[in-house]
Amino acid sequence: MALYAELHRHLGGSVVPRILWRYFHRSDAELAQRFPEYNSFEDFYTRPRNTLDEYLELHTLVESVQTSETLPYFIYRLIRGAYIFENLAYLELRYTPYLRTPEHLSQSQRIDLMREIVEIVGKASQLQDCPTVASQILCMHSRLPYEVNRAIIDLAVEKREYVCAIDIAGGDAHYRDRLDDIIQLYEYARSRGLNTTGHLYETPDGCYPELLPYLMRIGHGIQIPLLHPELLPEVARRGQCLEVCPTTYLKTGTLTDLHQLKVVFDRCFEAGVDVAICTDNAGLHNVRLPFEYENLLTLDVIGFEELQACQEASFRHAFAWPYRDRPASLLNGLLKTETSPALAASS
Ligand SMILES: [Zn+2]
Repeated sequence: MALYAELHRHLGGSVVPRILWRYFHRSDAELAQRFPEYNSFEDFYTRPRNTLDEYLELHTLVESVQTSETLPYFIYRLIRGAYIFENLAYLELRYTPYLRTPEHLSQSQRIDLMREIVEIVGKASQLQDCPTVASQILCMHSRLPYEVNRAIIDLAVEKREYVCAIDIAGGDAHYRDRLDDIIQLYEYARSRGLNTTGHLYETPDGCYPELLPYLMRIGHGIQIPLLHPELLPEVARRGQCLEVCPTTYLKTGTLTDLHQLKVVFDRCFEAGVDVAICTDNAGLHNVRLPFEYENLLTLDVIGFEELQACQEASFRHAFAWPYRDRPASLLNGLLKTETSPALAASS
C-alpha cells in the first residue's frame, strides 16, 4: 500500500463533479435548475478549455458555493476521498481565502473574515477517521489589490498552525504589469520566514525569471525545461522543485499531448531538478493522483524508477510533512519487524 503526497491541489478544483452536482441539488435551487442532469453537468465541468483564463473561469463557479457555511461539507468529502481513493498520506490544499468571503462586503471586512475561513478549512481538514496530514497554502491572486495580497501573507504568518506556505495564482500572463508588486510581496513573505511556491512558467506567457529566486518550489514550471533549459542548472542549485500537473496542460490548451512532457522530465532529471507530480484540480479534471502516475507510465513519459524518484521528491519538498522519512519507511518499520506476530507465527 503505497502512500502518496500531493503538493499542488486547489480547493476550488478539488471538488469532484458528482459531489458538486449533488450539493447543487441538495442546497442550491438556482444551480440545480441550471444543471438538471448529472451527465451533462460532468461534460460541462470537465471538458477541456482553450486557454488558461477560460479554464480558471470555472473556479468561480465553485468559489461561489464555497462559503464559511459550506466549506466543512466540501472539505470533509475531499479529505475522505483523498485518503480512501488516492492513498494520500499528505495533502497541501491551496486557495485564495479572500475569494471565499461574501462579495457584497467591503474590502476591509472581507480581509478580516479571511482569518475565519483559514480556521474553518484548518479544522475541517483534521478528520478523526482519516490519518492524512493536511496543510494549507494561501494563494495571492494576480487580480487582487496589493493590500489584499499583503494581508494574505500576514494571515499566513499568523496562522502557521494551519498554513505552510504562500503562492500566487490567477493566470500567469497577468503578472507582467504588477511584477514589482509581486516581487515585493514575495520579499516580504520570505522576510517573515514563510515557505513559497508560485504559479510560474506554466504557459509561454508566464515566464518571469525575476520571480524565480523567491520561490522554494515552482508551480508547474514546465516552460523552463521546454523553452528555457538554460535556467535548469540554477533551478537545481537553488534546490527548487517543479510541481508538474500533467492533466492541466491538456485542459488549458498549453500542451496538445502528454508525450510532450517527456522532454520536461528528461531535462529535469538530467539537470538534477526534482519534480513532484501533482493533480492541480483533481475534481475538475476527474483524474486522481494515482491515475496521473499511471498515465505517465502507460505513455512511457517516465519509467518506474523515475516515478518513484518523483514520489520521494514530493515528500522531501512537502512544506509540512512532520516526519523525516516517507511513509514507506515508516510502514516497513511497522509491518516488517523481526518480532512481528505474523513472522513469529509462520516460523
Ligand atoms: Zn494550480
